[in-house]
Amino acid sequence: MRLETVKLTASFKVNKPLSLEPLFSTYQEVLCSFLNYANSKGVTSFKRLKSKKYYELRARYPTLPSHYIYTACQMACLIYKSFRKLKRRGRAKADKPCFRGNVIMLDDHLFSINLSSWEASIATENGRVELKLCHGTYHEKFKEMKVGQAWLVKRGEDYYLKVVFSKTVELLEQNDKAIAVDVNENNITFGSEENVIKLKTKERTIRTAYFLKRRRLQSKPRLNEKPILMKYRGRERRRVEAIYHKAANEIVNEVRHRRASTIILENLKNIRRKKRSKELNGRLNRWSFRKLQTIVDYKAKLAGINVVYVKAKGTSSLCPTCGVKLSPNGHRMMRCRKCGMEQDRDIIAVRNLLRKYLAQIDVPSSSVQGESPPMI
Ligand SMILES: [Zn+2]
Repeated sequence: MRLETVKLTASFKVNKPLSLEPLFSTYQEVLCSFLNYANSKGVTSFKRLKSKKYYELRARYPTLPSHYIYTACQMACLIYKSFRKLKRRGRAKADKPCFRGNVIMLDDHLFSINLSSWEASIATENGRVELKLCHGTYHEKFKEMKVGQAWLVKRGEDYYLKVVFSKTVELLEQNDKAIAVDVNENNITFGSEENVIKLKTKERTIRTAYFLKRRRLQSKPRLNEKPILMKYRGRERRRVEAIYHKAANEIVNEVRHRRASTIILENLKNIRRKKRSKELNGRLNRWSFRKLQTIVDYKAKLAGINVVYVKAKGTSSLCPTCGVKLSPNGHRMMRCRKCGMEQDRDIIAVRNLLRKYLAQIDVPSSSVQGESPPMI
């Protein structure tokens, strides 16, 4: 039996923001004095930074709950470290690290949350503030999860509470029944040797439409185009993510229906580093393939399903039966010169992922025996 902890961040819009405004400015002051000290003395260690500045700041802000000074110190270390990294690579825009003051890190002393009444309580300089949380069906699943740390985030006029939830799940015993998922710009193909399903996502059409919309906007000079661009970006992201969530649910259902134990995903780590034409590269960068994988990953694990990543190399260009290089045969079709097999390239990718998975695990299976050697 394998146990795994699934971590998810829930975002709640908060509706009583005015009482929080002074907290944001105090927190910014505290964090900036940590950050300035860290920068002037080159301190990256949380312990050292805390020992140098904690009591001084505690005395300067006597009404601020002390755990804010803790979390500000933690954040200052993180901000300074990433600034130093950027600076070493010569990519830092400013000459010193800066904090814009739109995030507050909260630990379990500084906030509590009640999901049955959808309320949160946050410690401030003037006692605790009760907040009403905006919620939807998406938030229901967090009711049975454990609460971790949180962030209070200010974005424009809106305030959000982002809470990390976790749940330990028991994963199914791994067997040779698995569902492989191949992701493309226009479709998501998934299935097993018995049944392959192809979902048309039209993602590329959506992306291109929004890309053109943005370009039209930017070509006309106007006073402030940023809010409109942001609005379109948000819409585009939400439309694509809705498609991903729906697809992920269908994939999990297929796993249950086939009584499979595992979902196989491509390890796409290096896809952006490969040399590609400028146009294709831009398209792939906009295309948030990792997002779909993240959604499938957590939905599967919450359902007790194992998720395995296999190398993507050759999955759509080699024959799943004999392992030789396939030649394209018309639109998205591939043909094997050795065994004569002819199939859609997305289905070939799914079959290859299944082969690679079966070669990895030690499950005796009649379907793998007596066939060509496992592929690399
Ligand atoms: Zn072949």
